[in-house]
Amino acid sequence: MWKCPSCKELIQDGFDECWNCGTHADGTQNPSFSRDPDAPNAPDQSKDPIARPSVTIPVRNGIAYSLFADFALLIGQGCAMIGCVCAIIYGVLCMRADDLIGFILLAPLSFCLALANFVVFSRVRRL
Ligand SMILES: [Zn+2]
Repeated sequence: MWKCPSCKELIQDGFDECWNCGTHADGTQNPSFSRDPDAPNAPDQSKDPIARPSVTIPVRNGIAYSLFADFALLIGQGCAMIGCVCAIIYGVLCMRADDLIGFILLAPLSFCLALANFVVFSRVRRL
């Protein structure tokens, strides 16, 4: 056994340089020394935030993420809202004209479709 002159680590006689810092028994440093990451005293790299691989953010480009897409979604949102209002007006008109199919079936269907479109456009715009 010999003691490293640099870091005072105990080294077995079979080794001619310190496993911890690469210093020889005579005190000279090994210039090409690189520390074994599995060594017991090696710093835990998983706790180092810099050494951790960064989280990759998906690339968002192309026409679906352009200003044009934002504008199209805004127009779609407006159209869906107008569709909701029109469906209500249509239902009222059908009711007054005694159009049972229009009042019970077509107007509520149109309203639900327009409302669903509005919700979809609103959610997609926030992505
Ligand atoms: Zn040493």
